[in-house]
Amino acid sequence: MFLDRVSWSLFGPPFKRDGSDPADLVVANADIFTSDIANPRASAIAVRDGRIVFVGDEGGAAVHVGPDTRVIDGKGRVMTPGFIDNHCHVVWIGGMTAIMTTRLMEATNLDEMLQMVLDQSRANPDLPYVSGVGWRFEYAPGGAPDREVMDAVVSDRPVLLMSICGQCGWINTRAAELLEERNPQALRRLAPRLDSTGACVGALDHFHSFSPLDFFSGEEMAPVFASAVPEAIAAVMDEAVSVGVTAMDDVQFYRPFVPWVLKYRGGGIFDKVRLRGSLYVDSHDLEDEGRLRDDLAWWIDMGRESDERLTLGRSLKFYIDGTMGNRTAFLLEPYADEPGYYGRPDWTQDEFDRVIEIVDGMQLQACTHACGDAGIRRVINSCERAHKMHGDWDARHRLEHCEFPTPGDRERMARLGMHAAMQPAHSFGDELVERFMGHERMQGWHPWRSLQNAGVSVSFGSDWCNSPLNPVYGLLLATTRMNYKGKTDWGPEEKIDIEDAVRHWTIDSARALKMEDDLGSLEKGKRADFVIWNTSPLKVSSWWFMLTHELELGKLENFVDLTAVNGDIVYEKEA
Ligand SMILES: [Zn+2]
Repeated sequence: MFLDRVSWSLFGPPFKRDGSDPADLVVANADIFTSDIANPRASAIAVRDGRIVFVGDEGGAAVHVGPDTRVIDGKGRVMTPGFIDNHCHVVWIGGMTAIMTTRLMEATNLDEMLQMVLDQSRANPDLPYVSGVGWRFEYAPGGAPDREVMDAVVSDRPVLLMSICGQCGWINTRAAELLEERNPQALRRLAPRLDSTGACVGALDHFHSFSPLDFFSGEEMAPVFASAVPEAIAAVMDEAVSVGVTAMDDVQFYRPFVPWVLKYRGGGIFDKVRLRGSLYVDSHDLEDEGRLRDDLAWWIDMGRESDERLTLGRSLKFYIDGTMGNRTAFLLEPYADEPGYYGRPDWTQDEFDRVIEIVDGMQLQACTHACGDAGIRRVINSCERAHKMHGDWDARHRLEHCEFPTPGDRERMARLGMHAAMQPAHSFGDELVERFMGHERMQGWHPWRSLQNAGVSVSFGSDWCNSPLNPVYGLLLATTRMNYKGKTDWGPEEKIDIEDAVRHWTIDSARALKMEDDLGSLEKGKRADFVIWNTSPLKVSSWWFMLTHELELGKLENFVDLTAVNGDIVYEKEA
């Protein structure tokens, strides 16, 4: 039996329901992009026990339609594998949004931002500290966060705010005192900027490694962790499936938070999605190698807690450098605005060699934040060395962001099987990036096409909450290279085809998570995670799309009709 789309919509489901090999679910009459290069397009799939048993057309699917098979009419719409976000902060930061306002991202100047901080303080008198995420360097007087500016709005309680890039903290005097008093060692890890007298000026350059559990007691934090945090995480999970994301890599778990994550799982928080967590390793951890080894062994042991939805114990997160906007990305050539300044690496080559030797020897995957070309080279050097020492195993060490790899280093990445875990929304940039880098150098930023051509495995994600979870926004930027100026003058030849961009967000992200045997494409034997779209993500770079949608950051609407995980519908757009 073969049925074309017109006859389906005119006459309804054509299946006789006498299939000899019934499945639980059949989706038919869909325009399926499978992300499977060997079999790229189809119109029907069948699912049994959560896995795909057939991919093809309606004629082939008929045998899988029995009396009890659920049949979904795809109505000719585009269907893709569930999107897999290669790098985001949905659990840790997602949970912390329970106490951390994200409104600061909407501020357009310093006064607006300070007013939001004051509002946050007044609205939450019982929280141990005032927190928020999203301040921009443009707001800091002279580009450097100043504690006294913050004291002017809130001085009687600690204020701790994360920058939009997630790297830098802006704190008030009360916070500086409290951090110093309660845990000076942990404060040192946050890299406070000091004045000539040794006092903290109010900026913490390594705020990405801030954990309130280092400074506030269990009793102080427990009320928050017990209910507000899991509620906030659940809200992010709901948002993920509503925009077609079915699996995510939360690249920054802290050891004291892991027992909470397990508790939340027991409460059903991951029932709709799949999540992998990567344990954060700080550049100071090598100072006590025995303890570091214990932590890593503990993490590997946590792998036994993994199930079909939650994966632990396999991957680690490092930072080799910071970001361009914070002028902490580590560069081979000096910053354009300051001769002789190359940015700041978090680890020396020797230190990073040593830590990668340890983790590669324990067969853990290293996912290292590396933005600048010098930072990227340092990570590749360490991985190359470990590879020589330990030989071939399926390491797939990742460079997170991988914004400025030199041509030679792209070749080395390909040779070593290293993976570029990129987030196209970052390519939107801002004024500071171009000022610090110089227009010339911007041509090699986010070189997606060059990486592809070099044979490097590239995957995509959002870095939420740094950019929206909705992958359509990143797909648009990957295929147009439009930047914050509304121009395409930063390496326009590096834009890529939409099919490649979708594969980077599906099958290639599955590879980044080492889950491609189960996830990432609609193929027989894989788990039935899929999305049916009411607006085709394959058309985002078309004039039609750009002329008919509001493209502003965070304002793209939800284009998903239905999201399924293991063939179970986890999101359905209300009619
Ligand atoms: Zn990140």
